[in-house]
Amino acid sequence: MKEFTVRSEQRNQMIDITREVQRVVEHEGVKDGMAVIYVPHTTAAVVINEGADPDVQRDIMATLQKLIPGQSDYRHLEGNSDAHIKSALIGCSQTLLVKEGRLLLGTWQHIFFFEGDGPRTRRVFVNVFGKSE
Ligand code: ZN
Repeated sequence: MKEFTVRSEQRNQMIDITREVQRVVEHEGVKDGMAVIYVPHTTAAVVINEGADPDVQRDIMATLQKLIPGQSDYRHLEGNSDAHIKSALIGCSQTLLVKEGRLLLGTWQHIFFFEGDGPRTRRVFVNVFGKSE
């Protein structure tokens, strides 16, 4: 199991962590198997989506903000219920396949850490399972 940190700079932000996760796969030497990415936070998430056009990230975040506004009939006193709801909807983990020592991702797919209540320093865990031959 490996852990790395992500530092967000905005309240809502998608941070590309594809390279970091691929590095863990290579370090573990798994050629055929799977990688589990886990974020131990209640106001953050992991998203797999397009990494080529940054406007897609902007559109995802803008639409989430429209669907889940910062102020609403929330009861949670901390004032960050929107971030909790986004985290609950997106999910705090992803499972990916590993093929020939590489994350099996589509041409445009990248892995993003989703920050819902930044700026903060966050933890990301990655565990890789499978055959090394
Ligand atoms: Zn809270």
